[in-house]
Amino acid sequence: MWRTIRISLLLLTLVAVGFSAWFDQHHTTSWQHSVWVGVFPVNADGSRAAARYIDDLREPDFAPLVEFIAREAPRYGVSIAAPVSVRLYAPLRAAPPLLEPTAGALTRVLWSLNLRRFRWQTLHSITRSRPQIALFVLYHDPARTAVLPHSLGLQRGLMGVVHVFAAHSQHDQNAVVIAHELLHTFGATDKYSAADDSPLFPAGYAEPERRPRYPQRYAELMAGRIPLSPTTQVMPDDLSQVRVGPASAREIGWRMR
Ligand SMILES: [Zn+2]
Repeated sequence: MWRTIRISLLLLTLVAVGFSAWFDQHHTTSWQHSVWVGVFPVNADGSRAAARYIDDLREPDFAPLVEFIAREAPRYGVSIAAPVSVRLYAPLRAAPPLLEPTAGALTRVLWSLNLRRFRWQTLHSITRSRPQIALFVLYHDPARTAVLPHSLGLQRGLMGVVHVFAAHSQHDQNAVVIAHELLHTFGATDKYSAADDSPLFPAGYAEPERRPRYPQRYAELMAGRIPLSPTTQVMPDDLSQVRVGPASAREIGWRMR
């Protein structure tokens, strides 16, 4: 009897969690309402450089991200004026749980659950206007870190963990990285070759139909580079050199109308 009740409760909880995840996912990719994105800065290395950079951050610093989405979405038939709005929250004292690159399958599962719990706790400490998507942006002092850990955007977790440099000279490139991870949270997949980071054709091209094909004018956001020839590609300087390609647009629910 008790066993049946326990199992039923567990199943009910799973259904509730599953339903609320489905609802959030559906709601953030219906593109009928503005999606609220919360940026939570984190000082990744406890450095003074990162502390100063975070201290200088203001909500308008994320305007290029908002404008980028507002510029791209109408090309795919999204008609609301502000598909995404960004709110900057106070810096977090603790970093989200991080994953060792060598972690095994079980560690990965536990880490992913921990990360979801971290999002839940962070959002529930906010009493008013909770964002739907949480971006934890970890700022690193470039003098201490040469290579950043991999950023990630969880497709069904409505959150991203983004590693960037705490340097004003990096601000525009940081916006590209943040936009990339944001699109992951909407369901977009990577479109570059795992072997050499080159954009995959056609999905990783902003203008796959362009004749001649090279040089491409823009980087596709989920491929991250501008293809200049079949074998050469460059990083974009800022979001003005980036487009959402047709394949990524389809994945996030932007449909040509
Ligand atoms: Zn990615």
